[in-house]
Formats: sequence, structure tokens, C-alpha cells
Amino acid sequence: MDGTGLARRIIESSTAAAADLRRRTGTAPCLATVLVGEDPASVTYVRMKRARCEKSGITSRHVALPASISTSGLIEAVTDLSQDAGVHGILLQHPVGAHIDERAAFEAIAPDKDVDGVTMHSFAAMGFGLPGFVSCTPGGIMRLLEEYDVDLAGKHAVVVGRSAILGKPAGMLLLGRDATVTYCHSRTTNLSAIVREADILLAAVGRPRFITGADIKPGAVVIDAGYNPGNVGDVDFETARNRASLITPVPGGVGPMTIAVLLAQTLEAASRQLGTS
Ligand code: NAP
Repeated sequence: MDGTGLARRIIESSTAAAADLRRRTGTAPCLATVLVGEDPASVTYVRMKRARCEKSGITSRHVALPASISTSGLIEAVTDLSQDAGVHGILLQHPVGAHIDERAAFEAIAPDKDVDGVTMHSFAAMGFGLPGFVSCTPGGIMRLLEEYDVDLAGKHAVVVGRSAILGKPAGMLLLGRDATVTYCHSRTTNLSAIVREADILLAAVGRPRFITGADIKPGAVVIDAGYNPGNVGDVDFETARNRASLITPVPGGVGPMTIAVLLAQTLEAASRQLGTS
């Protein structure tokens, strides 16, 4: 499954929508990024996201805060952006530092600007199947499955991993599309036997080549969300590709979809706030 190609098409359509929005309203969509401290990986992620936005006609407002900032200081900065009519989406890069109440900081993001899908409001809306912004990587996975016309109804989807930003919401979205969902995690016993029953397998573990072809049901659809050092996924692609009917490569599968969904959701937020959708 070609995530690079699909992400490119989504970004192209977001770029066209951004230009159209600007023409109609005189305002460019704006994504605010908030970075606490100078963790090198976070600095790189934020820089990449901002560059991608700028290329697509989405302006970005960057708020760099010292690592020493308090929870209330961070909440104040995020609240300011939530109340700023010139900002349409907010991305608070995490981790924000162990001394900060990360959940409280996320909750300062106004739901209509939560384009990264990190607030309890967004999570609950997803759980209820109501409109709202979804966590970007699970959102990207669902778009890939739609693009390849994968029939989910009644299929056994096994999600390995249950993090709040990836495994858990992805399973909920699959359930929302009528899959029968099983979650596996570090305390799951007999993981191989469960994985072998998967019609749809989502690997979101963070362990290189954790799942091999031997454990994949012939004909299964395999989504590898893992991204480990050396550009290696959670699935052993070479052995898995012979068993799967569809499989995402790493890199070039799920990875590029995350930023594409972030852009698309920023556009959606801006269109709603500017009254054009
Ligand atoms: P995470 O927060 O570390 O969660 C990992 C999950 O895997 C946890 O639920 C953990 O179970 C489970 N797990 C760990 N060891 C296991 C084992 N031996 N057997 C079964 N389950 C096990 O990681 P994450 O943030 O969800 O990310 C997972 C992977 O996706 C990483 O490789 C990450 O880089 C990648 N990722 C990619 C994107 C992208 O492509 N844009 C975005 C986000 C993440 P417990 O809950 O029991 O601890």
C-alpha cells in the first residue's frame, strides 16, 4: 500500500484548498506549533511539519518555550492560541517534560483547533462516532484502508499496541467501521495465536520486525505503523509480503500519512472557522 503516493495526493488537495480559502477569505490557514525545550527529535519533527505547511500555503506560528516552563505557563500559552482568531489549528509537540501535567496542557487546546486529535473532546467524539479531529496516524491508517477499498465489516482486526495516540484510537476507528477488534499489548499471552487469526493486522508496537510472515494469516491486510531506528517497521516486510494480500512498507506506508492528515485537518479547521464549510 503506497502511503507516499496517497499522502502526496492529500497534500496536493490541501494545498489547492488553502489557496482557495485564501482567495475567498483573504486569510491563509494557520497552524500554531508549540515546542517545550530543545529535544533534538522534537525540534526536527516541528521543523518538518512547519516546512510542509509553508509549502502548502498554510502559515505557521511557532511558539518556543523554555524546558523550565511550568504547567500553568504552558497552559497560558496554549490558551492564548486557542483564543487567537488568527490561529486555526494547534499542535503541541510532545513530550513536554516530566514536570509538566501534559494532559492539562493538551486540554487547553480548543476542540475546534485540535487538528492533532489529542484532547479528551476529540477522543470522545471519535469514540461516539461523532464529527471531530482524529489522532493523525490512526486517521492516516483509515484513509489508506479506504483508498485500497479494504472491506472491514465483520473482519477480525488485531491491533498490536494500545498507546493513546496510535493503537487504541486506531482500534476504535476500526470498530467504528464494523471490524471485530482485538487489542494486544505487552501483557497479552499467546500473542502469535491471536495475530494468526487477523484478517486485518495493525502493528503499532515499536519493536523492529516484531511480527514475521509465519504469524500472518494468508491473505491478511497488514498495516505496519512501526518506525524503528534504521527505517525498520514492526513487521518483517520480506517474509510478510508473501502472505499478505496488502501490506504497507516502511518507509513509505503509514509514515507519510500522518503529516498529510495533519494538513488536511488544519484545512478543515480553518474552513470551518472562516465560515466556508
Ligand atoms: P508506545 O507508546 O511505546 O506503545 C507501544 C505499545 O506496544 C504499547 O501498547 C505496548 O504495550 C505494546 N508492546 C510493547 N511491547 C510489546 C510486546 N512485546 N508484545 C505486545 N505488545 C507490546 O508506542 P507508540 O507511540 O504507539 O508507537 C508504536 C510504533 O509506531 C513506534 O515504532 C513508533 O515510532 C511508531 N509511530 C509511527 C508514527 C508515524 O508513522 N507517523 C506515529 C506514531 C508512532 P503496553 O501498553 O502494555 O505497554
